[in-house]
Order: sequence, then structure tokens, then C-alpha cells
Amino acid sequence: MVKINESLLHMDENNIFKNVTLKVSEYKKNNPNKKIISLGVGDVSKPIVKPIIDAMHEAVDDLSNSKTFKGYGSYYGYDFLKEKIIDNEYKDFNFSLNEIYVSNGTKTDSTSILELFDINSKICITDPMYPIYRDGAASLSRKVFLLDIKDDLPVIPKEKYDIIYICSPSNPMGIAYNKDYLKKWINYAMKNESVILYDNVYSAFIESKDVPKSIYEIENSKKVAIEFKSFSKNASFTGVRCSYYIIPKEIKDNINIIWKRRTINRFNGADYIAQKGALASFLPESQRLIKDNIKYYKKNAKLLREVFSNCGFHFIGGIDSPYLWVKIKENKNSWEIFDFFLKKLNIIIIPGIIFGKNGDNYFRVSSLGKRKDVIEAIKRIEEYYNEKNNTSIK
Ligand code: PLP
Repeated sequence: MVKINESLLHMDENNIFKNVTLKVSEYKKNNPNKKIISLGVGDVSKPIVKPIIDAMHEAVDDLSNSKTFKGYGSYYGYDFLKEKIIDNEYKDFNFSLNEIYVSNGTKTDSTSILELFDINSKICITDPMYPIYRDGAASLSRKVFLLDIKDDLPVIPKEKYDIIYICSPSNPMGIAYNKDYLKKWINYAMKNESVILYDNVYSAFIESKDVPKSIYEIENSKKVAIEFKSFSKNASFTGVRCSYYIIPKEIKDNINIIWKRRTINRFNGADYIAQKGALASFLPESQRLIKDNIKYYKKNAKLLREVFSNCGFHFIGGIDSPYLWVKIKENKNSWEIFDFFLKKLNIIIIPGIIFGKNGDNYFRVSSLGKRKDVIEAIKRIEEYYNEKNNTSIK
């Protein structure tokens, strides 16, 4: 009898899609007239900007003509895109095309990269965390160690871990780490010969001067850090799928030769149309329009910060990231507050427990939705909490 990979059973039960989506659809089924607003999942609401759409139309046309047709592309991404990324994002860091990989999403990349390292590597993941790291590692039978975050920063551990996941700007906590703090992690990794997997998919939201746009701004990081970025959240590519990451050659001799050998066997390259669209995202007009979109989300975040602040909640985030991490002030756990928001206010929030046990006193709110929904949600939250005059929910 065939046996199923038991590691897949080690993935956590608390999954956004399994639980939040099920609960919401059940509630909607029983209450078809209620207008539910989502401040929940991290998908974007702004459509892709015109110059990118035009470029993707052209790319589709390329495929219709035998002179311009593209079949299998490069396993690691077309040079035209890799060059553009290096020019725009990594100009000062002297990376070669050999060290950059274009792919189809950081969700995949941030887990697949574990195949580069020994199966017995000790993997350190913060709790709370972007749950894909934990479940991706578990599904690959890797040994995961959780690093508790009590307030807002993980304390640099004394123990030696081989692989460290750092997500900054952070999902779910909505904050970004500054250079001084990141320096400490780089020193830790240098001392312990560890590798940092630096998930920077929200870099477009960074506005604090002391937060680096790339981990490579920190001295010595090329020796210890792999950085992941994506077109999902800035260029609205959550449906198109295109991402990239850097494996600096300084990490280990031959590291790129080995990873290329693996990639040839596991991946046939990112979509040509997506890569043409990603290329067009660097056009000045696209950059201008993308900045406007980010400003729009940031305005949403500002409105959300104001309402949670006015209603007496403690929260962090919403400045360098689209997320707010809000502390539950009632005597409720995060599923209970989720139920309360859904049933009483008809608003979807994400219970913190989904991001790890330390998230159970919190919920996550996203500013990536439509303004009119944010405004309506704010109205409902304000009405309820002001009426209760900040007293506990009955
Ligand atoms: N990394 C983090 C921290 C995320 O929050 C997300 C998506 O929400 C991703 C990666 C996924 O990115 P992509 O759309 O490129 O797969």
C-alpha cells in the first residue's frame, strides 16, 4: 500500500484558507443580506498599471508570431529582466547575473530554497511568522525551531541555528527592522556560519529612513544573506506571478553552480509574459503609477491606524508595511475576536493564532483593500467602540 509523505501532516491546522475562508463562507451562506467587508487577506486591490498591461499585451503578440515566439525560456529568468532588476534594485552591490534568479513567487521561493541546505539544518523561524515558512519547512521534513517574539522584536538567540528566516517589513506584525538591529543578525550569522533568508516582498512600503531597502545595505550581508523580492505587492502581480532572489556567491564557493543544477531539474522558468510585464514595471511611468498605488494603500493604513488608536487599541505597524498588528483588548482569544468582528461588525480580520501561538492575543488588519471598504469598516468599528465607550465587549 502506498504511503503518504507524513511530513505533510506536520503542517499547521490553522490555515487562513482552511479556517477563515470556511467560516466566512458559512456565515455568508446563513446571512446572505449582510455586507461583509474584508480587512483580511493580503491580496492587493489596485489593478496593474497601464504600461505594464501594454507590455504584457505585446508579449502575448510575440507568442503569436514565429519570428518572436518564445518557448522554454531560461531556468533562472531572462537576462533582460535580471539586468533591469540589478540596475534598479542592486546597483551599488555589484551582483552578477549569475547570482540572481527570477521565479514565480516568493511563496514558492522562500520554501524551495531550503533544498539548498542540508536536511538536518536547524531552521529558526520567529513566532509569529508568515506561516508558509513554518509549514513549507515542515512539509520538507526540516527541523524547525521557533523564536518567540514577545513585544515587537525577536531577541537574537544564544543558540546556533543554521538557517534564519527574517521577514522585514514583517507579515504579520507590520513593522520593519532598522539597520542597527539587522546588523546584529548579520553578526550572529557571521559568528554562527548561518544563512539568513531575508523576505523583503513589502520593500515598496518602506518609508522609515533607518530601514534598509535591501539587506545588502548592511555590511557583510553578502556573506550570509539571501534576499527575496516579488512584484506581487508593488506591481499588483499577485495573479500574474513573478519574483526574484539573490544568492550571493560570497556565501559559499560553488553555491550558484549547485543551485542552478537543482533549478534546472525542478523549474522550467518563469512565464515570458510575466517577465515582460515585470520589465515594464521599471519604466518611469509605471514607477510613478506604482508609487501612487502604494500611497493609496498607505492612506488606508493611516486611516486604520487612526481608528484603532481612537478606539483605544494598542497596535504596531502600518507605516513601513501594509499590515497593522492589533492587540486584543477584550478578554478574548484571536478566534473569538475574529468571530466577534465577523458576526457583530461584519468585518473580516485575520486571527493572530494563524501566525503562531504568540499571535493569539492579536489580530492582523490589512490596508491593501479598497478605500470605500476601509472607510465603511472604520465607520462600523468607530460606531461600536465609541458606543461602548471603550468598555469590554459584552
Ligand atoms: N512573503 C510574505 C511575507 C508574504 O506576505 C507573501 C504574501 O502575502 C509572500 C511572501 C508571497 O509572495 P508572492 O506573491 O511573490 O508569492
